[in-house]
Amino acid sequence: MTRKAALVIGGGIAGIQASIDLANMGIQVYLVEKNPSIGGRMAQLDKTFPTNDCAMCILAPKMIECANHENIRLLTYSELDELTGDAGRFKAKITKKARFIEEDKCVGCGECAEKCPTKVNDDFNAGLGKRKAIYKFFPQAVPSTYVIDPDYCRTLNGKKCGVCEKICKAKAVNYEQKDEVLTIEIGAVILASGFDLYNVAPLTEYGWGKIKNVLTAMQFERMICASGPTGGHLKRPSDDKEPERLAFIQCVGSRDIRHKRYCSAVCCMHATKEAILAHEHCPGLSSTIFYMDMRAVGKGFQEYVQRAKDQYAVEYIRARPGRVTENEENQNPVIHYEDTVNREFRAEEFDMVILSQALVPAESNRSIAEKLNIGLDEFGFVSNPQGMANPFGTSRAGVFGCGFCQSPMDVPDSVVRASAAASKVAEVLASA
Ligand SMILES: Cc1cc2nc3c(=O)[nH]c(=O)nc-3n(C[C@H](O)[C@H](O)[C@H](O)COP(=O)(O)OP(=O)(O)OC[C@H]3O[C@@H](n4cnc5c(N)ncnc54)[C@H](O)[C@@H]3O)c2cc1C
Repeated sequence: MTRKAALVIGGGIAGIQASIDLANMGIQVYLVEKNPSIGGRMAQLDKTFPTNDCAMCILAPKMIECANHENIRLLTYSELDELTGDAGRFKAKITKKARFIEEDKCVGCGECAEKCPTKVNDDFNAGLGKRKAIYKFFPQAVPSTYVIDPDYCRTLNGKKCGVCEKICKAKAVNYEQKDEVLTIEIGAVILASGFDLYNVAPLTEYGWGKIKNVLTAMQFERMICASGPTGGHLKRPSDDKEPERLAFIQCVGSRDIRHKRYCSAVCCMHATKEAILAHEHCPGLSSTIFYMDMRAVGKGFQEYVQRAKDQYAVEYIRARPGRVTENEENQNPVIHYEDTVNREFRAEEFDMVILSQALVPAESNRSIAEKLNIGLDEFGFVSNPQGMANPFGTSRAGVFGCGFCQSPMDVPDSVVRASAAASKVAEVLASA
């Protein structure tokens, strides 16, 4: 029966969907996620284009279904070490990292984090705000177990503390916990390792990291999210004032031969969404989106852009901003750009600037590709040598890819491809 089992690597929306589909076909699934919770990037989003549905309202029921499904074993905070064997008869070695918390005892009350004295930058909130050294990955995390960050915990670094152990009534804290290595037998593998955000700090012309009121799109998503660091209030980082004029700069690092030549595929739409949501938060607010070409290719996407213009005070300027400076008197970012329709150079001041940064394959793709013995393309996305003949295949039989790790794509495409990859796995298992 072990052959009727599959390994899914990556617990974003693609990995979650593939796991649920496989499990519903009666296949045993091991879902391996490197972070302390499943959810992936979608868990960081406020709403989703083009319907403005609440992202968590779509995602959370799927996360819970994964956790409760009798055919799914969730291995969070875990990574693949090695895959041996062939399609139909693989063996995988997986390391489940120590959380320093007993998962079956933690009730997720959060008292430990309240009392923990160590604050660190909160990656889930894209660096806006802080979390503690003992933390829950995000409020709706699945599993909802806390985790101790060994890089920052005082006790784990030989200093005097032990506060969380003392405060935990469930006796769940265990500083002695060790990593666990598991070996599982599976017939097929799906890689759904998603994407990372391109580091825009080296693109100094845009001023991110120097000009306080220049944010990335992911920082903005977290800011407008009710569960985010500002409780959903739109505020300028420099003075907490509500902004009145926003600017979005598209293709920051994408479609740029100095950085990433490819189109990140979702940014025209997420910038439009963020501008619409900003207007809903602050009805007097207007937005300008500086774009190269408007890529609104999807059902209802062009209509969404039109609605943004007609109903939400969003202006689109075809331009390539070359530089962002700061007005030192009011901390307003100033965008210097060429309007490529009217062939004019201009400088315009805004309250906040949001950069649509390039989206890149997950940093861990190189090492995971080595372990899986599969090829990547020139950018680091999972390559698909058989092309249209097997769109989800990789260079190794029995190993499939789906979602953003294959190429930039939005949530609906990731879900469709996840279901398709699951059906390919079912084919492999049926014939094994
Ligand atoms: C600012 C922004 C706004 C967006 N807004 C929208 C929107 O409104 N609508 C929409 O449709 N799309 C939107 N998107 C795109 C959307 O986020 C992606 O389409 C979607 O997240 C892709 O899902 P995925 O599961 O393929 O990847 P991810 O969400 O990246 O999930 C991948 C998962 O794999 C895990 N992982 C990675 N490597 C490993 C490893 N080696 N081992 C184990 N686990 C691993 C990661 O931790 C992660 O949990 C937006 C993107 C951005 C950046």
